[in-house]
Amino acid sequence: MPLPPSTPSRPAEPWLPGSTRLGVLGGGQLGRMFVHAAQAQGYAVTVLEPDAASPAGAAADVHLKAPYADAAALAQLGASCAAVTTEFENVPAQALRALAAHCTVAPPAAAVEVCQHRAREKAAFLAAGVPCAPHAVIDSAEAARAEAHAALLPGILKTASLGYDGKGQTTVLSLAELPAAWAALGSVPCVLEQRLPLRLEISVIVARGADGTVVHLPVQQNLHRGGILAVTQVPAPDVPEATALQAVALAQQLARALGYVGVLCVEFFVLEDGRLVANEMAPRPHNSGHYSLDACDVSQFDLQLRTLAGLPLVPPRLHSPAVMLNLLGDLWFDGAAASVAGPAAASASAAKAPPGPRPPDWPAVLALPGVHLHLYGKAEARRGRKMGHLTVTAATAAQARAVALQAAALLGLPGF
Ligand code: ATP
Ligand code: MG
Repeated sequence: MPLPPSTPSRPAEPWLPGSTRLGVLGGGQLGRMFVHAAQAQGYAVTVLEPDAASPAGAAADVHLKAPYADAAALAQLGASCAAVTTEFENVPAQALRALAAHCTVAPPAAAVEVCQHRAREKAAFLAAGVPCAPHAVIDSAEAARAEAHAALLPGILKTASLGYDGKGQTTVLSLAELPAAWAALGSVPCVLEQRLPLRLEISVIVARGADGTVVHLPVQQNLHRGGILAVTQVPAPDVPEATALQAVALAQQLARALGYVGVLCVEFFVLEDGRLVANEMAPRPHNSGHYSLDACDVSQFDLQLRTLAGLPLVPPRLHSPAVMLNLLGDLWFDGAAASVAGPAAASASAAKAPPGPRPPDWPAVLALPGVHLHLYGKAEARRGRKMGHLTVTAATAAQARAVALQAAALLGLPGF
């Protein structure tokens, strides 16, 4: 394998399948699914992840157990891999910069840095001509008292960094509440956003190559429960065609404006009046794109691989309508398996069952047609923890939805 050219973050030639080693920063499920995609094409994969037991580390050819900012580990990763990507956005941007001195890195550190900070992210939306919620930066006691913020209320105060799954957010109804709300979030830099009237939420995944080619997955319609993604439906059942086209165009516009290379997910709100507003973006594959593993001829992880290795990007095709259900650790506690056999059996088995988590009734779920089960290899089920997902594919959207509702009922999940 030749050494990378002088601008290593833009490969002049592809890193060919079967010929080299790729790296991932982060050991979560997104990294695990990237590892699977890369190994399927004969690449060896090294994962850098401090946790000894991680979904991606368990699947990788080599697991480097060290902090993401560990200079020696980064040097080893950079020296042994032709190209390195990241599977979560809070990896220190400095680590990506350090790696870029040794090997191809995608996405670029600067773009990841933008995604790590809500204020920078919103500035990037606006600079790219992508509408976002009216907002203000609250980074001091004075700012938390400013009368000018009245126009943003009722609003949502969000920490500028490290928020996920609805954490680090609070609703603010009046100016009087704002100082205490800011203090309750730790007096850290925050963004106050106007609370918008949402009709529904969608996301778009685009992939941009180093040569500027951009492709996209179909628009995903997302349902959240308790601030965590619960259900994704594709094609998006309630999104007009014009809105879907506009969302794709805006996501592509953003990827170009950022000089992005890699997979980028943009979350949008569709407002009551039909307008589109960008919520946030993720510089990596996204939970809402998992259905692409089973319903598209090119998955979001294949796209990540191709952008990283400099391989051709062809437009992915949705070959089956799909519904994805997230499988949180709650399912291991809430006795869904017992509900299959009815209340009498449920109470009988509850009386005998040892306390603690037990897996859902997988055979019952897998007896349904078109069910694709993905578990991430996490040893311990905890409430709110993403343990896996399942995707239902079918010949029609109505069939996929009907089977997904059956699966949800078997698992004890609410309908949608
Ligand atoms: P993620 O896990 O997607 O990173 P997060 O914790 O970063 O989530 P956001 O996506 O900012 O949080 O918000 C979580 C949810 O809260 C959104 O999906 C939406 O349902 C709701 N929400 C956020 N901002 C607004 C807003 N300005 N107006 C109305 N609803 C909002
Ligand atoms: Mg979100």
